[in-house]
Amino acid sequence: MFRLSFALLAAVLVNVSLAQDENEIESAIDYLFPNNYCCTVLTLSPVSKHVTFPGQPSYNASIDSYFDVKSKLTPHCIVQPNTAEDVATTIKVLTAASLLQPCKFAVRSGGHTPIPGSNDIEDGVTIDLQRMNGTTYNAETQLASIGPGGRWGGVYEALEPLGRMVTGGRGSTVGVGGFLIGGGISHYAPRFGLSCDNVANFQVVLADGRIVNANKNTNADLFTALKGGTSNFGIVTRYDMETFESENLWGGVVTYPASTVDQHFQSFVNFGLDPNRDPNAALIVFQGYSTASPTNVVRAAFDYTKPVNRPDAYKEFFAVTSISDTTKIQPMSAIAAEFGSTTTTRVQFRTLSFKLDFATLQETARLYAIMLAEIQAKASGSWRISCLHQVWSTLYTTNSTARGGNVLGMERYDENFDMYQSYLSWSEAKDDELFINQGLALTNGIQKFAKEHNTALEYLYLNYADKDQDPLAAYGADKVAFMKKVSKKYDPFGVYQKLLPGGFKISNV
Ligand SMILES: Cc1cc2nc3c(=O)[nH]c(=O)nc-3n(C[C@H](O)[C@H](O)[C@H](O)COP(=O)(O)OP(=O)(O)OC[C@H]3O[C@@H](n4cnc5c(N)ncnc54)[C@H](O)[C@@H]3O)c2cc1C
Repeated sequence: MFRLSFALLAAVLVNVSLAQDENEIESAIDYLFPNNYCCTVLTLSPVSKHVTFPGQPSYNASIDSYFDVKSKLTPHCIVQPNTAEDVATTIKVLTAASLLQPCKFAVRSGGHTPIPGSNDIEDGVTIDLQRMNGTTYNAETQLASIGPGGRWGGVYEALEPLGRMVTGGRGSTVGVGGFLIGGGISHYAPRFGLSCDNVANFQVVLADGRIVNANKNTNADLFTALKGGTSNFGIVTRYDMETFESENLWGGVVTYPASTVDQHFQSFVNFGLDPNRDPNAALIVFQGYSTASPTNVVRAAFDYTKPVNRPDAYKEFFAVTSISDTTKIQPMSAIAAEFGSTTTTRVQFRTLSFKLDFATLQETARLYAIMLAEIQAKASGSWRISCLHQVWSTLYTTNSTARGGNVLGMERYDENFDMYQSYLSWSEAKDDELFINQGLALTNGIQKFAKEHNTALEYLYLNYADKDQDPLAAYGADKVAFMKKVSKKYDPFGVYQKLLPGGFKISNV
């Protein structure tokens, strides 16, 4: 087979050498490789058995497993590697083949990012890491080695019987790979910091196909850049994460009448600014409405990382009478299952950061009500909106710096703040414009108010950012300069900038 591929490449070179210009080169390649040049080259390489094409069951299953329906594109082929070596070979083949014609590719792990083209590609090759999904535990180092293609539910099920736990995603279905290089907020964040800062070592395939480790002692600049810098520097093929003792948590979701929103916002501000906040207490306060449950409500997701019923940390919230309550003491895997979701709908995430200021929170509620009325009047099919508030804590910085730092630029902030997320999902393609524009109007309106009232903050959480937002720039100029330097050092020809166009690119900042 490799002789055949050599013969084919030689034929291409002969034809290409006779070509007069770029158009003729392209025609020559199209003539010799009618079924797509880049995919054909992959089928003639050592990763051929991992390549799947439209119509084949593994291709269809991969496409069907995207979280957001509008993010399901149709790549020419999908490569599904089993090992880091397979990923390295795929990168070497695609970059070598690109000498004749660019072989653009996408990288996906869980496929949860709801931005079309961030984890998939229309005219190119998708590298789908879902088969690299194992979790192993080393009792000596107390590190868990986790494949990028895993989902957090599977990770918890592997670690709980061993009495260990990691700072993973809150929903069982969320992917490991993208989550950890975008920051990562777990229920354990107030205790142990952001999830990226709990990674002790990244195994990475660099642009030249080398497989390297990045940790505090080896490739330390790459180690720092990968914590928040997403896919700009390489493909992560293994995460070695710090573990801690697994204990049951008290948690669940409590639903309240919409009329109690001001009480909740005041409690949220008090909770977020409390200098003696209990580090076991995680919290999300959100407003929400769905066609499946058509009542406008306020919800609080309480998650306390010790087996303590109704802990004091939330006592202000307990003063409000609830409509329903799912809280109980349960293992992390059960809480994650409650938070887990697969969708067959279309999704938009947007994010903002602002000070824990009651008036700004009230403005979010005013604009939420306007959005809800517009959507109720105009949308068809089924849909859901949630607008979430989380405390972003200065403790994250302390936890990060001690472990080699990240690139999020958190050192700029000496006070906890509100990390806001709007999360809209809808069933009908014809409503794309309505929901996308409503989400944009909502966050633009909040941002305008926050700027005018001096409560706006620059930081944007990358894992909740929308396509037009610029979370890498929002890390601050010094972090941008650092990421550019690291990208140039480990990828001098810009493979992960030019051939991997999806996601947030440092070269675009
Ligand atoms: C239902 C839901 C719940 C969520 N809950 C949380 C939560 O609790 N906390 C939180 O912080 N976030 C949460 N998120 C956001 C989540 O962190 C991001 O969507 C994240 O990107 C998901 O990871 P993934 O593996 O699915 O990424 P993908 O969508 O597969 O990829 C995201 C980006 O990362 C790149 N990438 C992926 N894997 C690799 C790799 N191995 N090497 C290099 N680049 C890679 C991709 O190219 C892409 O640009 C949630 C999202 C959803 C939809």
